[in-house]
Amino acid sequence: MSNRTGPHDQTKTRTLEASPSIVQDAVMPTYARLPIAFEKGEGCWLTSTNGVRFFDALSGIAVCNLGHAHPDVAMAIGRQAETLVHTSNLYEIDSQRRLAQRLAALSKMDRIFFCNSGAEANEAAIKLARRFGHNRGIENPVIITALGSFHGRTLATLTATGNPKVQQGFAPLVPGFQHVPYDDAQALETAIRDTPDVVAVLLEPIQGEGGVRIPLPDYLRNVRRLCDDHGLLMMLDEVQTGMCRTGAWFAADHTMVRPDVMTLAKALGNGVPIGACLARGEAAKVLDAGSHGSTFGGNPLACAAALATLQVMEKQDAPRLAQARGAQLLAELRVGLRDLPMVVDVRGQGLMIGIELNQDCSDLVTRALEARLLINVTAGRVVRLLPPLVITEEETTQLARQVIALIRDFAAQHTAKPS
Ligand code: PLP
Repeated sequence: MSNRTGPHDQTKTRTLEASPSIVQDAVMPTYARLPIAFEKGEGCWLTSTNGVRFFDALSGIAVCNLGHAHPDVAMAIGRQAETLVHTSNLYEIDSQRRLAQRLAALSKMDRIFFCNSGAEANEAAIKLARRFGHNRGIENPVIITALGSFHGRTLATLTATGNPKVQQGFAPLVPGFQHVPYDDAQALETAIRDTPDVVAVLLEPIQGEGGVRIPLPDYLRNVRRLCDDHGLLMMLDEVQTGMCRTGAWFAADHTMVRPDVMTLAKALGNGVPIGACLARGEAAKVLDAGSHGSTFGGNPLACAAALATLQVMEKQDAPRLAQARGAQLLAELRVGLRDLPMVVDVRGQGLMIGIELNQDCSDLVTRALEARLLINVTAGRVVRLLPPLVITEEETTQLARQVIALIRDFAAQHTAKPS
């Protein structure tokens, strides 16, 4: 039997190129996709189905932190697939236990629930917080989240998300959420005081989709203090910032703040779907047998990928790589863009970098694609760069040059009037 579904299936590739509308028609149009498909990747590079190489400065949105087709991760996936892909959480899964132990040691958390995505990890955190409240006799627990946040697309996580666009058309939303401005400890304190039955605060340590918003250095420490003072769970969504992206294993490490609950996904399996909800102390005791579950969550294949990912990240000291290349990229971008009035800010932590312009620049994504570069624009006017952490020094300089040239061209063609 011929293998019709493998990555090198020429028939499929040609079909996609010949009649994209037919292929797309059967897929719900939930994504505004760019007209390009890739068939293989290596490190920071992707090759399109028509054989063109692109530099990936996005890593599948902070997923392939070790680059594409990392040999150690690929080998671990292959070996596991040949041995055992799935059993179910009805039985013990040794690799899940080992992964939990490793992650707990790295994060200084106590217990972990495994799922398949960031939204699911946050759903687990939300359920945990509600139960935590119920255990204290609170019947209608409230979770405070931030405006400008993104926590996922399930009903509870889109309600938690502080962006009306994500919620539009999905009312009735889930009760029990209250939003406050991000990076404003005073506003949080007021909301905690004025809202009855608050049980938890859920925040991103850096807002990713919200425009790479890095809070003031003492923000998370203040949130921690407020949570301690009021007996609330501090829950950090590290789905995008975790797994070494910002130059530390977890972004909260930069501030020495330890949350009670932390969520991970994206880069945890370097592309193989896996999410995790980590908890410590009292929070780690909340979910018991039968209270939550997932068919696929933490199955042998996903855990093999995550264990290999962790091993490579530890061996290569991935936080240090992100720090070094991130500092280089930020410095080069700042020098190259410093005289452009259109550039409001060039900011970043590790290899999570945002270049904020004073007007909508979504158009830059297509211009970059034409220049064989994959980037992203978030919150309308923030160019977001999330290259693989294995990017070399030369590739970093090349990326900075390309991005500077793109923004300079864009600026030259637009009046620098704020929109
Ligand atoms: N939380 C954050 C901070 C994210 O950036 C995302 C995705 O971009 C999610 C949650 C949702 O993750 P997923 O798309 O895996 O459900």
